Amino acid sequence: MMLAYMDRAAAAAEPEDAGEPAAEAAGCAAATDFGGLVSAMPAAVVRPASAEDVASAIRAAARTAGLTVAARGNGHSVAGQATAEGGLVLDMRALALSRRPQMQLVGCPVAGGPCFADVPGGALWEEVLHWGVKSHGLAPASWTDYLRLTVGGTLSNGGVSGQSFRYGPQVSNVAELEVVTGDGECRVCSPSSHPDLFFAVLGGLGQFGVITRARIPLRRAPAQVRWARAVYASFAEYAADAEWLVTRAPDAAFDYVEGFAFVNSDDPVNGWPSVPIPGGARFDPALLPAGAGPVLYCLEVALYRYPDDEDKAAAVSRMMAPLKHVRGLEFAADVGYVDFLSRVNRVEEEARRNGSWDAPHPWLNLFVSVRDIADFDRAVIKGMLADGIDGPMLVYPMLKSKWDPNTSVALPEGEIFYLVALLRFCRGGGPAVGELVAQNGEILRECRANGYDHKAYFPSYRGEAEWARHFGAARWRRFVERKARYDPLAILAPGQKIFPRAP
Ligand code: FAD
Repeated sequence: MMLAYMDRAAAAAEPEDAGEPAAEAAGCAAATDFGGLVSAMPAAVVRPASAEDVASAIRAAARTAGLTVAARGNGHSVAGQATAEGGLVLDMRALALSRRPQMQLVGCPVAGGPCFADVPGGALWEEVLHWGVKSHGLAPASWTDYLRLTVGGTLSNGGVSGQSFRYGPQVSNVAELEVVTGDGECRVCSPSSHPDLFFAVLGGLGQFGVITRARIPLRRAPAQVRWARAVYASFAEYAADAEWLVTRAPDAAFDYVEGFAFVNSDDPVNGWPSVPIPGGARFDPALLPAGAGPVLYCLEVALYRYPDDEDKAAAVSRMMAPLKHVRGLEFAADVGYVDFLSRVNRVEEEARRNGSWDAPHPWLNLFVSVRDIADFDRAVIKGMLADGIDGPMLVYPMLKSKWDPNTSVALPEGEIFYLVALLRFCRGGGPAVGELVAQNGEILRECRANGYDHKAYFPSYRGEAEWARHFGAARWRRFVERKARYDPLAILAPGQKIFPRAP
C-alpha cells in the first residue's frame, strides 16, 4: 500500500503495515471529481494493493478521532460523493491495477454451466469488456453507456443503460461481493450468504463497505449489433412506443432501448445533427410534420447478432415497423459489439478536444415515474430546457421488476419509470455554471411542487431530513439500521453527506 499524498493528520493515522509511505505534494485529483463543483482536500490518498490494505486503512481511521475513508473509483461522480475532506481517499484503481491476474474466470463455459468474472472493485467496465470478449468470448449482460467507470462505483449506485429494461441494472447482475465493512472486517457476501450486507452494499452509496471484488455473471458475447434510431415529433407517441418496446416478451424484444430529447434546430450539439448514427445518413428536417414543436425525441434501439446468427437488419426493420416515428427519419448501422459499447468514447475524445471534458459538469439524473413523465416533459423538457443543455437529454423507460427491492437503491412507485439524465457540457460562452446548478435546483423544486413521483439518481443531499425524504420512511429506517450494523462509526463515504462521523 502507498500513501500518495499525506499531511500530519494522516501521518498520525498511518495504517498498520503501510510499508513505505511516499508523500507527493502535487495537486490532488482526489479533492474533486468529474462534476468539478466540489473541492474537498483529503489528508491522504491511499493506494491499496489488496483487500487487507483496505481493511488496514479503515481500521486506522477507526482508531483516529474524526477520520473518514472514501473509496474513489474513477472519480466520475458530480457532487463530491467520492471525496473525504481531511480524510483518507482509497484509490480503488490502484487495487485493480496491482491485482494479477486482474480478472479471473469462474465456472466453465465449455461445460455450458454458468460462468462469472471475478473482478476487482476498481476495475473499469471497459477492462471487464475487453478481457471478457478477447479472452473468452464472454461479456456481462448489463452496462452503463460509458465504460470508464469502475465496477465498485456503479454497483454503489445502480448502473443503468439501454440494457436495463431487459437484463436489469448492474446491481441486478452480481453474484457475489467481497466487501470491507466500516469495522475493518473483510466479508464475502451473496444472495445466500450474508444477504443483508450484499443487498445493503448494492446501490448503498458506499455507506456500508468498500467493494474489493465483485463476481459478475457472464454470457456469450454478441459479435455485432444492429443499431437504429428513429425520430418522433410527439412525446406521447415516443413514450407509448418506448414503453411498448420495454414490455415485450424477451423473444420479441430488442437487447437495448434508450432515447433522448433534442432541439428542433440545426444546432450542431443540441439539434438535428446529434441524431444520425455516426457514418450514417443525413437528418432531413423537411420530413418533419408541419406542427412539430421546439423539442423532438429520438428512440434508440439495438439488437445483438451472435456469431452464427443471420444478419439482423431485416429483423430490426420488422420490429420497428409498428412504431409511430416520423417516416424517413430513421437511421441504422451494423457495428461491432465492443464498438457499440464503447460509443461514448468518441464523445469523450471530442469533449477533451474542445475542453468541455475538464470543465464543470452540473449534471442532474432522475428517475421519474411513468405516471408523471408526460407532465415532466411539458414542464421541464419543453418548458425549461427547450433550447437544449449543450449535451444529451436522455429520457427512456425501464422496469422496476428488474430491480431487487432488497438493494439500497430508491426508486419511484409503479412498474415503469424513466431515466432522465441531463448531461450538461460547459463549452464556454454558455450560461454560467452557477446558473445551471440553480436550474437543476429549480427542476427538483418543480418535481416536488407538482408531486411528481421521482427519485434522484446519484442523489446529493445535505442533512438527515433530505435523505429521509429521498428514501421514504421504511427504506430510510432500513438504511439507518444497516449503517449502524456495518459502519457504526460512520467512517465510510463522507462525501455523500448522509451520516456525520461518530466522535
Ligand atoms: P466514484 O465517482 O469514484 O464513486 C462513486 C461513489 O461510489 C462514491 O460514494 C464512492 O465512495 C463509492 N465507491 C466507489 N468505488 C467504491 C467501491 N469499490 N466500494 C464501495 N464504494 C465505492 N451511470 C450510469 O448508471 N449509467 C451511465 O450510462 C453512466 N454514464 C456516465 C457517463 C459519464 C461520462 C460519467 C462521468 C458518469 C456516468 N455515469 C453513468 C455515472 C456513474 O455511474 C457514477 O459517476 C458512478 O459514481 C461511477 O463512477 P466511478 O466509478 O468513478 O465512482
